[in-house]
Amino acid sequence: MIIDAHTHFAREGRGRPPNSVEDLLCILDMNKIEALVTCAPYSSIGKDRTYDEANQFLAESMNKAPSRILPLVRVNPHLKENALESIQRFVGEKRFYGVKVHPRNEAFAINSEEIAYPIAKATTKLQVPMLIHTGDPDTYGFAQPALVGDLADAFPNLTLIIGHMGKRLYEDAILVARWFDNIILETSFRSPREIAHAVRRIGADRVVYGSDMPFGIPEIEIMKIRLCDISPMEKDMILGGNIARILNLEGGR
Ligand SMILES: [Zn+2]
Repeated sequence: MIIDAHTHFAREGRGRPPNSVEDLLCILDMNKIEALVTCAPYSSIGKDRTYDEANQFLAESMNKAPSRILPLVRVNPHLKENALESIQRFVGEKRFYGVKVHPRNEAFAINSEEIAYPIAKATTKLQVPMLIHTGDPDTYGFAQPALVGDLADAFPNLTLIIGHMGKRLYEDAILVARWFDNIILETSFRSPREIAHAVRRIGADRVVYGSDMPFGIPEIEIMKIRLCDISPMEKDMILGGNIARILNLEGGR
């Protein structure tokens, strides 16, 4: 069972294709992907700097294929009231699977008590994970994976997924994941060698496959997991078992 733990999806004109549920499901079928975790791309941000419209598109898409499209609500943490209200509306009421934040796009530090902590608090309360973009190039160093450690320390019951495993800063991502066991690493853009290295350092149960589609290509990102020097069972965990556990998919959500 393959579940893609990090993708983006928006309607036509607001993000790269695929832009329809039909086209999206076609890509899933081609790659034997059971389901995908998805959120709004930066290109879909509104003139009001919210993701309201983009989140609503995902809610409608989820309704067309609820077992396969697993959305995260994307928020702009600078707009505190809107962000908290969006988390409540889309996760609390519409049953989205978590929250996505992007410290570089939205220009905030993930360890900012003023900007990031209220979002983390609301997410913890709803018992869903938070996916955080990390890596370089970066805005003022805001997207460094090491900063996620502060959040992991302050919110031990919150599952934090480090997107792209910090990109070139993957050693920092692995280090901070060793310190805090509520941190999970997502594999998009990393090499088989680096992914296998992460598995040896923190265990296969804390690494999840992601493609970052449409920016990454699922075929290639899946192939990288298959080429890792790890056991078949570990590959299965990374390709889908772990994210199914984290999202409580079997628990009858
Ligand atoms: Zn992303």
